[in-house]
Amino acid sequence: MNCALVTGGSRGIGRAVCIKLAEQGYHILINYKGNTAAAEETLAAVRAKGADGTLMQFNVGKEEEVQNVLGAWIDANKDKQIEVLVNNAGIRQDMMMFQMSTDNWKNVIESSLDGFFYVTKTVLTGMLLKRYGRIVNMVSLSGLKGTPGQVNYSAAKAGLIGATKALAQEVAKRNVTVNAVAPGFIRTDMTEGLPEKELSAMVPMQRFGTAEEVAEAVSFLASKGASYITGEVLNINGGLYS
Ligand code: NAP
Repeated sequence: MNCALVTGGSRGIGRAVCIKLAEQGYHILINYKGNTAAAEETLAAVRAKGADGTLMQFNVGKEEEVQNVLGAWIDANKDKQIEVLVNNAGIRQDMMMFQMSTDNWKNVIESSLDGFFYVTKTVLTGMLLKRYGRIVNMVSLSGLKGTPGQVNYSAAKAGLIGATKALAQEVAKRNVTVNAVAPGFIRTDMTEGLPEKELSAMVPMQRFGTAEEVAEAVSFLASKGASYITGEVLNINGGLYS
């Protein structure tokens, strides 16, 4: 059975990606941190597409949890192959750097950058042995341009962009591709409370994007058809580059 693992699959962009990959026929491994009710809603939506899934609760930023849940699942399911990995889990804890606590810094780096390392390392060997894999990392416009009030988040996403480009070159020979998508403003829980009307005025398309619009691009990069694209960062931002 071929599986797709989506971290942070319980809500927002991750949920939309789970649903889209279910359309490609994958068994979806839906990771989440704590919101079981939301993860169950994602699973129901995956099933409504005629596919199936498995809930996997672990904090991507904690190596031991990743090993105990994901590592143990891989060991116990040798007949199943994780062909697609979407490193989507992430949080933001915005504030100006002079006010930022060490915890604010570490929490954000942990969820986006450390999480990428622990989860990808755990599934990569299987992809290399099978000589097939698709890894898509969720970065952000902030990781490309830097956003004031988001020194932690911008650093985490810029770090993930560097890791994407480096890993892409390490594993290309084995038909494992590694790409990133960089959304601008997308309407999810993460952007709830932002002044959408004001911010939309800065976007050439004059609106926030939807999780489904991001999922379309992830789905393409995760597909067999994207076989000669690797180390790429695809912007999904309605034209907002600065
Ligand atoms: P969201 O609606 O807040 O959802 C976040 C998801 O990540 C939830 O499923 C949450 O699980 C999970 N999560 C958070 N920390 C985790 C951890 N340590 N371990 C495992 N799961 C964790 O966010 P979103 O807007 O969909 O964002 C998804 C990704 O897109 C993030 O990486 C974000 O940085 C990136 N992004 C978003 C935007 C935007 O405008 N929304 C723009 C650029 C990039 P629980 O439900 O269990 O809490």
